[in-house]
Amino acid sequence: MKLDDLRQSKNIEDRRGQPSSGINYRQASGGSNLLFSLLFSRLGWKGKLVLILVFLLFGGMSGLGNLLPGSTSYNQYQSSQVTTSGTNISDQDAIFMSKVLGSTEDFWTQEFANNGYTYDAPTLVFYSDQTQTGCGIGSSQAGPFYCSADQKIYIDTTFYQELSNRYNAAGDFAMAYVIAHEVGHHVQNELGILGAYHQKRAKLSDKEGNALNVRLELQADYYAGAWAKYVEGQGLLEVGDIEEAMNAAHAVGDDTLQQEAYGRTVPDSFTHGTSAQRKKWFDLGYTHGDLAHGDTFSVANP
Ligand SMILES: [Zn+2]
Repeated sequence: MKLDDLRQSKNIEDRRGQPSSGINYRQASGGSNLLFSLLFSRLGWKGKLVLILVFLLFGGMSGLGNLLPGSTSYNQYQSSQVTTSGTNISDQDAIFMSKVLGSTEDFWTQEFANNGYTYDAPTLVFYSDQTQTGCGIGSSQAGPFYCSADQKIYIDTTFYQELSNRYNAAGDFAMAYVIAHEVGHHVQNELGILGAYHQKRAKLSDKEGNALNVRLELQADYYAGAWAKYVEGQGLLEVGDIEEAMNAAHAVGDDTLQQEAYGRTVPDSFTHGTSAQRKKWFDLGYTHGDLAHGDTFSVANP
């Protein structure tokens, strides 16, 4: 991605290297951490990459599904001294991400105005290890996530480092896609979709709730695709960027993950959509580049 001439967003909160405010936490469920460790130890590098990407994007999930007020994932913690493991996002990476955020602001301000709305941009927070959020304690184990209560996107430094190490130069647009997806959740919040989703989900069974969650995630992928069309229109994309995002979208499909992990798929437990669905909705966003065609909730088969 060619970002040289882009402005940096001012909506950045840099908590890199800050001590973790003396907080330590135990995840209430403990489930995802355990699952992560188990899977991680069993997978080859390819599987590990997929898992990291999954956690990067599912981080958005954590923000939506587990970290929101009324939810309990991060609410059990005890006081103790925690030292930070250092700052792993370089200044260069931080500038890259703030430029990506700046371009999402320009795009969504314009697209909201086209529809008669006003866009209030989210804040992007860089942090190390763990940090206080409006949705409880954010931890590097959650990956990037969006908290609707404080309207902030949290990016932890170690996951960024993992991503750029393993993806090498090809990683820049994959990271941009991750940010655009999280911004997509903020767009849903701005439009009232997120609030409606939580109200509706509370009344559903796990299976129905998962199906609704898939639609929410696919819409965030659509919005990320819409932003990609905008930056392409500005001549900022390089050869391979869209493929990179599409591959990332594909790699984090629930079926791909489960196939890697268990050798079989369990459709009822899908919460993010299949690889094909995620690619499809990113591509639809990339084709239309607007809010109007991104209704993943009304279509029969998203
Ligand atoms: Zn998400």
